[in-house]
Order: sequence, then structure tokens, then C-alpha cells
Amino acid sequence: MTADSNQRWHPDTALVHGGTLRSPFGETSEALFLTQGYVYDSAEQAEARFLNLEPGYQYSRFSNPTVTMFEERMALMEGAEVARATATGMAAVTAAMLCQLSAGDHVVAAKALFGSCRYVVEDLCPRFGIACTLVDGRDLDAWKAAARPETKVFFLESPTNPTLEVVDIEAVAAIAHAAGARLVVDNVFATPIWQKPLTLGADVVVYSATKHIDGQGRCLGGVVLCSKDFLDKHLQVFIRQTGPSISPFNAWVLLKGLETLSVRVERQTATAEAIARALKAHPAVAKVIYPGDPDHPQADIIARQMQRGSTLVAFEVKGGKPAAFRTANALRIVKISNNLGDAKSLITHPSTTTHQRLSEDARQELGINAGLLRLSVGLEHVDDLIADLTAALDASAARAAAE
Ligand SMILES: *Cc1c(COP(=O)(O)O)cnc(C)c1O
Repeated sequence: MTADSNQRWHPDTALVHGGTLRSPFGETSEALFLTQGYVYDSAEQAEARFLNLEPGYQYSRFSNPTVTMFEERMALMEGAEVARATATGMAAVTAAMLCQLSAGDHVVAAKALFGSCRYVVEDLCPRFGIACTLVDGRDLDAWKAAARPETKVFFLESPTNPTLEVVDIEAVAAIAHAAGARLVVDNVFATPIWQKPLTLGADVVVYSATKHIDGQGRCLGGVVLCSKDFLDKHLQVFIRQTGPSISPFNAWVLLKGLETLSVRVERQTATAEAIARALKAHPAVAKVIYPGDPDHPQADIIARQMQRGSTLVAFEVKGGKPAAFRTANALRIVKISNNLGDAKSLITHPSTTTHQRLSEDARQELGINAGLLRLSVGLEHVDDLIADLTAALDASAARAAAE
């Protein structure tokens, strides 16, 4: 097997060639090694593999050549020393957090987190004696005030789900490091194309590869990116012994997804920018939140830490839940789904779906109003999407006027 990797490649090149392991058959497209185990030439070789004296594979819970290709390609693109793939994004988040935490430790996390991430820090960690403080991620003094001598991890996502607020990653990393803690960043909404948290000071980056990395709504996956030291001391043994491992088939789908990642994300972002402008001009829309919008309340931070906006647009329709439901139901091209990052444009009503679990007070605190919709922009033609959204908003407003 020969490996293709070069630290000097531009991300677009790494996304196509990075980490390729070519078998003696010389296949063009990366091979799918759908195998649980590996055979050894001799008992001596098996012994050497288990003693880590010889490189090679032992069992696909620990490692697999197709999974290795996906991990190496992700690490090259992100500029990380190493990557480990997992079965889902939540497996990546859970492994990245628990592998480095013990009873008595403390976590500080931003309140505006993906629902299941919030469960991990708010409900799961405390059950095992790991205390957690939730803060407003935008308030740097709150991060500082929450740190304690036993704080081990700071955790955030930016832009946040679903209100697309941003957290100053560089500033929070500095606060975490001053407190002797590591910063873990969930970078799903920014995508690896528009934001590189490691260069901003984060220690660990996690992705749900289910989203933009697959990009065509097929399979689940996750990935943790970190230093070799963190892998050796914490992550490797945790994944090996607890088994959140990804299927080689899913890793292969995601590996092939990476080849088109930058092209898709660039197009989806350009379309999202145009949609955000069109929604801002529509009379039925009360508010648009888009990280690429110069009027975004944190445009200065966005200019510093993101290369471009996002493939997601959040907007609030006038008339609360009835208007939000009418608008979503009137869409023809855009589908109603809580997923994101797909080639198909998807819309969700967070307060009744992804954020239903939160109390009304918690939702208000996060700005998740009954009229808020979150749009994940796909690969359809921009004019068709704007026409679909405009027609749905017009129809909803006309019905409200008639009632
Ligand atoms: C989807 C998502 C996750 C969880 O990923 P799964 O692959 O669904 O487990 C975590 N964080 C964010 C920001 C997400 O969007």
C-alpha cells in the first residue's frame, strides 16, 4: 500500500488525494475494505502487531484502511496532526469529552449547543461526578468567571444552532488555556471550509460528518481532530476500548464526500447569501440572521475567524408558530426536515422539533422564538429556491390577512 499525503497541498487538493492508500491493484477510486479482521503471516507477526512493534491492522474496532484514508484526509484538510473517525457526530462529541474527563473535573460550555451536545454536558457528565457550568458563549467575562481550579474542558459551537450567533473562539481559547483547560469546538455549522478552530487556538475539533461531509443525506459519521499527544494520552484508548467505531462502508461514503466538499459548500454558501438578502427584503420576515450578512450583530468576530458565512440561514416570520407552520407547509422544493448540510434544501421549526426538549425560558434565553425557522441551503438553483421561499411567505401572509 502506498499513501498519498502532502502537508503543503491546498485544501481542495487534499480533499481529492489526501490519505489515499492504493492497493497492489492500482485502483483509481479508494477501496472499500469491508472487513472485521486481518490475517497475519505468522504467530510472530501477530505478537509483534499486538506489541505495537510492527505497524499494521488488527481489528476494525481499532482501525481499518478505509477508515484510515478518511481520517488522514480530514486531518490534512483541517491542519490537525491526527483524526479519529466515529460512528456518529454524537459519538465524536462524547468520546472527545469523556476520554479526557474524570469524576471531580469541571466543564464550562456555551448554552447555545446542539441539543444532544447539551445533554452530554448538562445531564450525562454530572451523573458521573463531572460538574458543568453553562454560560452565554458571547459573554467573555462569563467564561472567565466560570473557570475553577478543577476545570478541564471548555466546549462550544460557532455559529450556534439554530440562531447562528458566533463565539469568539480565539478569546475563549485564551481564557481556557489561562485556566489550564482545553477548548473543544464543534465546527459543524461553520464547516471545515470556512473556519479552522485549531488555528484560532482550539485544542480539539469535532464534526458530525453526517452533515456537509457526507452532503447527500446518506450515512452517519463523526470525526475528532487533535494533536498526536492528545490521541496517545486520551482518545485512542477510549475509542479502542469503548467502540464508537465507524463502519468502513460509512467511512468510504464520507471519504468520497470529501472530494466534492469545497465545491458544494462554496455553492451552498453563495446561494445562502442570496437567500438571506431576499428574505431580508420580504415584508413577512421580521428578522434574518446570517453569518455572512454585514448587519450580523457579531460581524466583526465573523470577519476575524470565518472565511465566509454559512450554508444555513435563520429567519423569523411575523405571526409566530402559525405563520412559521404555514410557510414551511407551503414550500414545494424545500423539504421539512431537522437535518442539515444536505444537497436538498431543508427547513426546520426549532422550537417544536430540535429544541422542543428545552423549557420555554431556556428557548427564550437562546432567542428561539415560535416564528423562527432554520433553513439549510442545498444545491438547487438559487432562483428556484428564492421563488419557492417567496411564494410560501406570500401565501402564508395572504392567508393571515384573509383570516
Ligand atoms: C448533527 C450535529 C451533531 C450530532 O451529529 P450526529 O451525526 O447526528 O450524531 C452534533 N453537533 C452539531 C452542531 C450537529 O449539527
